[in-house]
Amino acid sequence: MSTPEVPLATPDPVSLTGRDLHLSFGDNQVLRGVDIQVDAGTTTTVIGPSGSGKSTLLRVLNRLHEPQSGDILIDGRSVLKDNPDELRRRIGMVFQQFNLFPHMTVADNIALAPRKLRGLSKDEARELALAQLNTVGLVDKADVRPSTLSGGQQQRVAIARALAMAPQIMFFDEATSALDPELVKGVLALMTELSREGMTMVVVTHEMGYARGVSDNVLFMDEGVVVETGTPDQLFEDPESERLRAFLSEVL
Ligand code: ADP
Ligand code: MG
Repeated sequence: MSTPEVPLATPDPVSLTGRDLHLSFGDNQVLRGVDIQVDAGTTTTVIGPSGSGKSTLLRVLNRLHEPQSGDILIDGRSVLKDNPDELRRRIGMVFQQFNLFPHMTVADNIALAPRKLRGLSKDEARELALAQLNTVGLVDKADVRPSTLSGGQQQRVAIARALAMAPQIMFFDEATSALDPELVKGVLALMTELSREGMTMVVVTHEMGYARGVSDNVLFMDEGVVVETGTPDQLFEDPESERLRAFLSEVL
């Protein structure tokens, strides 16, 4: 029996809005009034120097840190009064470190959360894991340990694991930064496919090719504020601020 492929993106994408978000750690004002609008089915990339608050913005948007002020809305409705777990379940996250469980097989890594949190039976979760692995091109690796895979394959498993929870939004935080250069391409190709299928995504990345070629909007952060935001053409071809021009001249 052949394993089915499942669509990468959710059939009903949602929009995500962050409004005037503030967060400090002690005296360190890490987010100083950040606005972000990600329309349903679009991809926003977040670029900016190290320490500018990009990772913190993602963590605030899924309420791993509660914003000290501001609002977070999905499809125009504030989610700050809801249970944070509910929001986190709607948002899949992929980090620089893959964080796969080393003692479990690849398929079990993917099946775990759907069994525990979506209430799937063991067989259903296994079937879902195989279908998801098929979609990311790794179904033949279902029964091996993650450590036997390349970094790029492990990251694709981590993406499959996030997608198995049927998220409405995906966050990527420097998902390719820990990979050897030759492994970056496969992961970017998968992220590109996910964008093109119409997943709502927020992608923190140093991959300017992806930011420029795939994303609908780009947001440039520095020192906890959004310095510029717009289409890739606007930001890359015609940057307005000195700070963005300086940043681009370093990374391009
Ligand atoms: P980026 O992802 O753009 O490199 P971060 O969001 O990781 O930036 O960090 C922005 C600032 O927030 C840094 O000065 C960092 O030291 C600080 N910071 C991030 N997380 C924490 C934390 N959990 N506790 C204290 N300070 C933090
Ligand atoms: Mg970061």
